[in-house]
Amino acid sequence: MTPLADILARRIAKTGPISLMEFMAECLLHPEHGYYTTRDPLGAAGDFTTAPEISQMFGELLGLALAQSWMDQGSPAPFTLAEIGPGRGTLMADVLRATKAVPNMHAAMQVHLVEASPTLKAAQRDKLADYDVTWIDEASALPDQPLWLLANEFFDALPIRQFTRDAHGWRETQVALEGEALAFGLSNPAPIAALDHRLANTKVGDVVELCPAAAPITDEIARRIANKGGAAIIVDYGDWRSLGDTFQALEAHKMVDPLARPGQADLTAHVDFEALARAATTAGASVSKMMTQGEVLARLGIGARAQTLAQNLDGEALETHIKAFERLTSDAEMGTLFKTIAIAPTPSRLPPGFDT
Ligand code: SAH
Repeated sequence: MTPLADILARRIAKTGPISLMEFMAECLLHPEHGYYTTRDPLGAAGDFTTAPEISQMFGELLGLALAQSWMDQGSPAPFTLAEIGPGRGTLMADVLRATKAVPNMHAAMQVHLVEASPTLKAAQRDKLADYDVTWIDEASALPDQPLWLLANEFFDALPIRQFTRDAHGWRETQVALEGEALAFGLSNPAPIAALDHRLANTKVGDVVELCPAAAPITDEIARRIANKGGAAIIVDYGDWRSLGDTFQALEAHKMVDPLARPGQADLTAHVDFEALARAATTAGASVSKMMTQGEVLARLGIGARAQTLAQNLDGEALETHIKAFERLTSDAEMGTLFKTIAIAPTPSRLPPGFDT
């Protein structure tokens, strides 16, 4: 048993089962024992790796897309260049390096990072030591000015509620006790207003997931973009409209039982891009059609960029580079599992790669 398993088991024994959402929130961000609170989970020695950690090309291409979008909207100054859930700061470092030569951009930008983990904040501070960076706890603290923003593998880390449909309503996934051990259970069925729009497209036995924190965060971002200008690019694994159980735990790059070691494994769920798009549209912004990561990177010119980089490489470094290119783009790896949408003030102002 982990220390957090013990804390949760005692709480459940006293007050009854907790929702999957509460379990996930405690496992990820418990102030003392939370997964993100206590470690840097990224990289080969960690539990998972991400596109910017695989290749510099990811951040370079997204950074140039944002820079072009900023120029297309008249190079407003000052503006916010932001990332939510910046991990080790690698993506932002690549964005900043790639955009160094864009006229006036760095003089006009105010870099803001939204980060909950003290450990990763420290890693970002090291990586971005040459830049003037402001850290904030929530998207609602972003300045009220034009905003260009990236989020890669952020929304999958937000706690979800999970429901199974039955003849009498929705039964919510809970974490209960079986003897001394944590075990999954289901609540009694009840109507759930937030799932009314799913009644027409699900049947008894179907599992759907809701991420209550996703819409308010998207709203904060989209409202600034709609009112002041800017663009956001969101990349994550998931799909259009959640269906099925996608809750998973990863430890040392392997799927594990999510209840086995609370606080020691990364917990995620697939992102429902329809929910993000709805929130952005409700806030008055425009949303691109959802595309795969492979398609958007191809549209942004990853083929040409990969070849340019390859010219200066040989041997093992060249092989690693080719593998990284395939990992980011191929259908068998991240290319189609990962999806992306862009948010802009109007359809004609979608960033390159997302325009039609
Ligand atoms: N974007 C990075 C890291 C992805 S890992 C990359 O691509 O490499 C998820 C990131 O989101 C971590 O930085 C984690 O600490 C952060 N995070 C998770 N939950 C958060 C929350 N509720 N608020 C702010 N940041 C959060």
